Amino acid sequence: MPARHEEPIVAIATASGRGAVGVVRLSGHGLEALVEPLCGRSLAPRHATYTPFLDADGAVIDRGLAILFPGPHSYTGETVLELQAHGGVVVLDLLLARCLAAGAERDPRTNLPRLQHLRLAEPGEFTERAFLNDKLDLAQAEAVADLIDASTEAAARSASRSLSGAFSAEVEKLRDRLVELRMLVEATLDFPEEEIDFLEQADARGRIDEVASALDGVLARARQGMLLREGMTVVIAGQPNVGKSSLLNALAGAELAIVTPIPGTTRDKVSETVQIEGVPVHVVDTAGLRESVDEVERIGVARSWQAIEAADAVLFVRDVTALGDPERGADDAAILARLPARLREEARVVEVRNKSDLLGPDQRDSTAAQSLAGTEPIVLSARTGTGLDALRRRLLELAGWQADAEGVFMARARHVEALKRTRRHVEAAAELAAVGDAALELLAEELRLGHDALGEITGAFTPDDLLGVIFSRFCIGK
Ligand code: GDP
Repeated sequence: MPARHEEPIVAIATASGRGAVGVVRLSGHGLEALVEPLCGRSLAPRHATYTPFLDADGAVIDRGLAILFPGPHSYTGETVLELQAHGGVVVLDLLLARCLAAGAERDPRTNLPRLQHLRLAEPGEFTERAFLNDKLDLAQAEAVADLIDASTEAAARSASRSLSGAFSAEVEKLRDRLVELRMLVEATLDFPEEEIDFLEQADARGRIDEVASALDGVLARARQGMLLREGMTVVIAGQPNVGKSSLLNALAGAELAIVTPIPGTTRDKVSETVQIEGVPVHVVDTAGLRESVDEVERIGVARSWQAIEAADAVLFVRDVTALGDPERGADDAAILARLPARLREEARVVEVRNKSDLLGPDQRDSTAAQSLAGTEPIVLSARTGTGLDALRRRLLELAGWQADAEGVFMARARHVEALKRTRRHVEAAAELAAVGDAALELLAEELRLGHDALGEITGAFTPDDLLGVIFSRFCIGK
């Protein structure tokens, strides 16, 4: 039996549903044996050939383009065959089944199966092979999935940058510098009598500091990329009828949540992803957060509180025309008191005063009322849109987005975590370098650990189970 990653694989590579074109893709060594039975002819490498796709009895399933990429010059590094047919669910299923059957069929000349062990591909398996065959490193392979899943234009552009290797190149540069340092320190270890001189001459400390600041630069860009990928979650909270659903609609620019003048009618949370300068913002509208006897409404309220616990920020919406109402003020204070302390402590509760369009010119002063949330209130009108930009700016600020950031590359939490770990080891190395000769072995060890942590990003040094986790989240056929 061949190892799993050596078995030939096949999958429908296009999204399920109707489409002008649908693609069945195969990868594996020895795939050439299927060309004749599937297409009734041979194929010139890397040429699109218009051909019938044939059933076992020679009947035509469909006609389309076939392209053969003999390995290693292919996406996976193995031989790849792409069949571009019409994009119907049934026709692609037929073609997929036909490929599997053609693999199992015996070649009349040899009486052996044409392509043994051909099976359906698992999610991400084509890209996993590209990684295993050194066509892509791990950060690039992840960028493939991130490009497909990108929820904003900026996210797609940064994923594309990572896919082309920009992030990996930065990581490799850092690794090279760490390798040089390790060689220097380890050489010094071998000649103990020259220790201090040697390190001083080579300015080991200065070089460690340089690596640390280069790491900070990459970390900052990776954080921005992670934000583009994951976005931030913002909860809209407040009493019934203050305009929470209207605010979500205004941010999204479309009628998404149900807007109604009857209090308590938004029963479940409604969430929508809007984008602000390319940062995906997942906005969750909460049910009117009031005690209720209605069972369904109570469930809605409980879910809202769960969403609030996990949020990056809360928009605490109040009706600007009712700020002076002591009863409603007390209710607002009660809602505020229930918000997670973490969000308030980090000033992540934004007090939004809605319905500013209802204020007369002489009432503008009422907006100066003290903020309950302890942050600068934002006065706006979900109805007219006045003040929305200030809210968007505040949200970006809370997300940690730097508008002028250039060359952001897509990164994942895993990458940021590995960079931070590297940073800690380099910092420890810097401290040890200051101590001098007594700490040389520890210094060498910190540099090694930092080097390994960086290697996890590109997959130069990656535990197998991590690979499983990463690729299983891909879509099938990719
Ligand atoms: P929710 O219960 O907090 O989600 O509030 P809704 O979004 O359903 O709004 C309640 C009522 O207030 C509706 O009649 C809205 O049309 C109205 N409303 C919402 N925002 C504004 C606003 O900015 N100005 C005015 N004048 N009315 C608003």
